[in-house]
Amino acid sequence: NPAFFSPRTGIYSSKHAPRTLPQNPFLDLVSFLFSHEHQGEIALVDSRTGFSISYKMLRELVDSVASGLQTMGICSKDVVLILLPNSVLFPVILLGVLSIGAVVTTMNSLSSIDEIRKQMRFGNSKLAFTSLENIEKIENLGVLHHIVAVPEDLNYDKAKFPLFDRLISSNSKIMLKPIIHQSDTAAILYSSGTSGLSKGVVITHRNLISMVELFVRFEASQYENKSWNNVYLAALPMFHVYGLSLFTMGLLSLGSTIVVMRRFDMQEAIRAIEKYKVTHFPVVPPILGALVRAKSATGCKLESLMQISSGAAPLSRKVIQDFLRAFPHIDFIQGYGMTESTAVGTRGFNSGGSDKKYKSVGLLAPNMQAKVIDLRSGSCLPPGYSGELWLHGPAIMKGYLNDEDATVSTIVENGWLRTGDLAYFDQDGYLFVMDRLKDTIKYKGFQIAPADLEALLIAHPDILDVTVTSAADEEAGEIPVAFVVRKPGSSLSSGQVIEFVAKQVAPYKKVRKVVFVNSIPKSTAGKVLRRLLKKSHGDS
Ligand code: AMP
Repeated sequence: NPAFFSPRTGIYSSKHAPRTLPQNPFLDLVSFLFSHEHQGEIALVDSRTGFSISYKMLRELVDSVASGLQTMGICSKDVVLILLPNSVLFPVILLGVLSIGAVVTTMNSLSSIDEIRKQMRFGNSKLAFTSLENIEKIENLGVLHHIVAVPEDLNYDKAKFPLFDRLISSNSKIMLKPIIHQSDTAAILYSSGTSGLSKGVVITHRNLISMVELFVRFEASQYENKSWNNVYLAALPMFHVYGLSLFTMGLLSLGSTIVVMRRFDMQEAIRAIEKYKVTHFPVVPPILGALVRAKSATGCKLESLMQISSGAAPLSRKVIQDFLRAFPHIDFIQGYGMTESTAVGTRGFNSGGSDKKYKSVGLLAPNMQAKVIDLRSGSCLPPGYSGELWLHGPAIMKGYLNDEDATVSTIVENGWLRTGDLAYFDQDGYLFVMDRLKDTIKYKGFQIAPADLEALLIAHPDILDVTVTSAADEEAGEIPVAFVVRKPGSSLSSGQVIEFVAKQVAPYKKVRKVVFVNSIPKSTAGKVLRRLLKKSHGDS
């Protein structure tokens, strides 16, 4: 379709035919998910123990959690924190919460106590689900009405998990379905957006329904095989929008089987792929590189794998080429999305054969539109020219929680989301991401807001000024680097700076390199010149 770009309006439209989205204003994500017919039998399997949850059980468990929550006094619009590593019970809990119109918020289960306190206070969480290891940490905060310790699966000791036991044994039939509007808030996920501290991304049921339809169900419709025969390996974290969209929602509407890894480990992943005959493996770039290394080290063939899709961070041409050479039988695609677009953006459906555009992140999802904005003039650019990518469509977030300024500077001109990414479309409508204009650092696909780390560092008594930016790293993609101006007379060492931050953040957010400087370069308006700092230290 040559009309994907309109020179008159400057708007790119999806080349895919539009999908019909449900119009009923009184529809929630969970009812929508379970309204689809399929012949899937096993919904979720624990990769290590083999414990599984069937589709039939899933529905009942979700309703039990929902009615149990109602009995505990959790109501529509109450915020519930899920502070759990991946598990077969994660989706059960999440869907149980959403069923009663309560709002889910997630975070990395390895977050520090300060991070947990901050997010709970900010989001006003009433209840938290967490693992036994975190219970004490959270109890000491004293800000929650209820804390529910969650076991790894349903073979648990009732004495250790009394509240969970009460929830999961509730009568699923007595759940009272409240009226939920598509426009109601369903989830608050965290992202730094184009600048500043981490912010709560407010996602509605309509956003989630659109994600399921335009990303997951649309993609399945493009392939001939029956989606309930597909087996996915869930190695990506379910607390992040990418894993959340696929493994706790979208794929469950298709009847696919999801093999859940509690935490990523390459050997365990290979074993799981072979044991469960995994067909689909969504990854972040570092996993792709690790697969190539595993092939040379162990000769693993991964014969069952049909497709690997990579997203969340840029991928180098070299890694792609190595991967294609190592595993020629696997269909490889990239996808692009962000928390603020509920993971919807582009996906790389290729025409097959030799003209595959592996380096591209693919074509715009159905019902989505884009603009490419010239950084200097602000005008819309045609194919072949790169500028800031803007997205428009039904999956774009409602806004940032309690942050009107950030919302209006990110969602502009009637619903256009400024992505903060530098990108261009080629003549065939394929998107290529060139660079990140925003400050966000991506460590192994995880987001780190430099401002969050700067706020911690500036509180150090020996630090006069500080800026955090990134350096390229072969394994992780990027690592956070702190440029520190010490107070006169201070003998603060790199190790002390690293240690100071490490104590206060989840492990992936650690500062991994420190450069001591005499001053932080700033523009006349006082804006930190991050790129200049990076360049002057050998990173572009
Ligand atoms: P998040 O909200 O954590 O999903 O981060 C979204 C950001 O990750 C995007 O704005 C991009 O900067 C980056 N990103 C996501 N997918 C890709 C991709 N396939 N290639 C390059 N960067 C990506």
